[in-house]
Amino acid sequence: MTDGTSDDANGITLVPRDGQAYRFDPGALFLDFMLSGGPGPIARWESLNTPDDLRSWFSRTRLRLEPADIRASPADVGEARRMRDALWRLVHERLGRGSAEPGDLEAVNHAASHPSLVPRMQATGGGVEPAAVTEAGQAVRATWATPIEAAQVTSYIARDAIDLLTGPWAERIRKCGADDCMLVFIDMSRPGKRRWCSMERCGNRSKVRALRARKSGGGSEG
Ligand SMILES: [Zn+2]
Repeated sequence: MTDGTSDDANGITLVPRDGQAYRFDPGALFLDFMLSGGPGPIARWESLNTPDDLRSWFSRTRLRLEPADIRASPADVGEARRMRDALWRLVHERLGRGSAEPGDLEAVNHAASHPSLVPRMQATGGGVEPAAVTEAGQAVRATWATPIEAAQVTSYIARDAIDLLTGPWAERIRKCGADDCMLVFIDMSRPGKRRWCSMERCGNRSKVRALRARKSGGGSEG
């Protein structure tokens, strides 16, 4: 399930306009996939146009699927985008930043109605992590049955979103604290005080801005 080019940690490497790449972990699979683009003002970041793009995005999410294992058509791209755009509106509605459209719940439900990914156990040949050991002493790891239809992945992602948006973690969905950053994540921190998409990116930019403001002398902060 790993593709060798990406490490095992969750998160996606983003490259903003200034070219300074950073790692962003939104905390959930469906939020990973939402980074592929979106509706309205997010549309200028659209990067999901072809079946190859879809395969590539499925491999960039925490599922880390092998693009070559996935069969995708232009219709799959359309369906995945409809679900993704609906998710953006539903999440924004939750955050008080807009309202969902009438068909949005149905778009997600429809995606989830397709058969999902099929998990299977695979012998690792021993010594390879991550592995569990069966009673017979054979080392096994989880993988997905292949070939994989794109609709199965879209379904799996839709189910992840339904699970999360209707459960206790929905309270922890946040937008990055930077005004000019649209990234959305689930705050998994114990105290629930995560403010930034990434400390390395927006957290740091905010610190620099605060420092500059102090230096330029307002002096009112004491
Ligand atoms: Zn941010």
